Amino acid sequence: MNRLTVLYRGSLKSCNYHCTYCPFSKHSMGKRELEQDKIQWFRFVESIKQRSAQGEAGERIGAVMVVPYGEALIHPWYWEGLGQVSCMEKTDAVGCQTNLSFSVPEALDWFASAGGKVEKLRLWATFHPEMVSEEDFAGKCKRLLAEGVSLCAGAVGVPEQIRRIEKLKGLLPEEIYLWVNRMDGLRRAYTYKEKQAFLKIDPYFWRELERTPSQVIQCAERRFIEADGRMGLCNISQKIPGNWYEEGWGEEKDFPACRRKECSCYLAYGGRKDFMNDILFGPYPVFRIPRRPKAVFLDIEGTLLPYKESVIQGLEALASQQVRLFFATTLPLEDALRRCKRIWHVFQGGIFAGGSHMILMQEDEIREYIYELDRGLISLAESFRGEFGYQILSYSHKGQLYKLTLIRPRKKPWNCQEAGCLMEMLEPAYAEKLRWYVEGNCLQIVAREADKANGVGMILGWLGIPLKDAAAAGDSEEDEKMVHITGGNLHSSQPF
Ligand code: SF4
Repeated sequence: MNRLTVLYRGSLKSCNYHCTYCPFSKHSMGKRELEQDKIQWFRFVESIKQRSAQGEAGERIGAVMVVPYGEALIHPWYWEGLGQVSCMEKTDAVGCQTNLSFSVPEALDWFASAGGKVEKLRLWATFHPEMVSEEDFAGKCKRLLAEGVSLCAGAVGVPEQIRRIEKLKGLLPEEIYLWVNRMDGLRRAYTYKEKQAFLKIDPYFWRELERTPSQVIQCAERRFIEADGRMGLCNISQKIPGNWYEEGWGEEKDFPACRRKECSCYLAYGGRKDFMNDILFGPYPVFRIPRRPKAVFLDIEGTLLPYKESVIQGLEALASQQVRLFFATTLPLEDALRRCKRIWHVFQGGIFAGGSHMILMQEDEIREYIYELDRGLISLAESFRGEFGYQILSYSHKGQLYKLTLIRPRKKPWNCQEAGCLMEMLEPAYAEKLRWYVEGNCLQIVAREADKANGVGMILGWLGIPLKDAAAAGDSEEDEKMVHITGGNLHSSQPF
């Protein structure tokens, strides 16, 4: 089921901090303007509650995040509204960007009196070195963590502040990820030393430095809502037709295009539904709170390949944090090795040939398992060759047969009906031990137990890692079960 992430930016444009570089520190709002912001916010909160209570459309709102211009969480009504939304059964997460200047006990009281569920609360906390000490900021983060709030912390990558951000990193507990944002007004490139320093603080800082070409297909499950109900797909996209407060808001027939060339900030690229976001930050990546899996399983064709620099950097960042990476592919081991030479060094083995062959490579041992096929299957397949017009490729490892491919000319691909018909013609004693799937002009036959999801279970079992600590990504039917059991969704690179 699609789970919509809804970002809200009301008419609030004021802050209690006075950072020199920030336009909102100079803007103050009168009582009436604040009252107006409150009314608009509660209108939005009501709309979320109504939609969540309604049938199908309501089921789609999984997360709500406030991304204000200025500081919202010094105002009790934002806590109250977040508390109310967090009560909705179908909402998994609520949160806000903040400078953390609120009083923790007071704020959590406001949240709790609205029935707020603290386990659903996600805060994005920004450190402002001009306004607060590292000790005070880290202390607040730890206090929130102790209260059961999930949060990330971060700062703008100002080169002059490197030492202070490093100090903050040292004060924060491991559970709190400290991100660094690219400094937009720097007017020069970061030096090598600066980049290395920021990468040491934030292993994902490279994402801030690279260009992320826009890809609107990945933005279908997000809406950015303004106080008057105008909508975008993200904070920098153009407005899309309709209004949040009108009927039929989510029923666009033609998915809107995006005129942006690049997704140039975290709220844009970090909220896209791409598989790396999902692996790094889970189903609602926009909150920027890492998922921290212990093992990751990745399909090759259409997922890891064709290579993208961002994917390679993501893999290296994961490996540097001791996350175990595994291939999960329909390719046999040798083909996978040939196709993925460039990234092989960060992987510790994988699931090959559609789950027929599992390998775990550790420093001191290699563990392997093969779901073996009976060799008699080859002669049986020979007997139907003429009728169905195929060649037979057989795959063995250390003398064990694990896969047969019945390959036809490219112009005559298999359809599932024909393939099913052939499989039914095999003796039942054979057929019940087999699983088959079609990949274009190839009919692949493996042992019944051989699939990627079982392979994930086997490798996790060898490592003693529970399923909840694993993540997986893939884009085809063969990946569906594996991705599903690890709590994800298939990713798609197909245009709408
Ligand atoms: S700019 Fe925004 S809407 Fe456009 S592709 Fe990027 S994230 Fe999606």
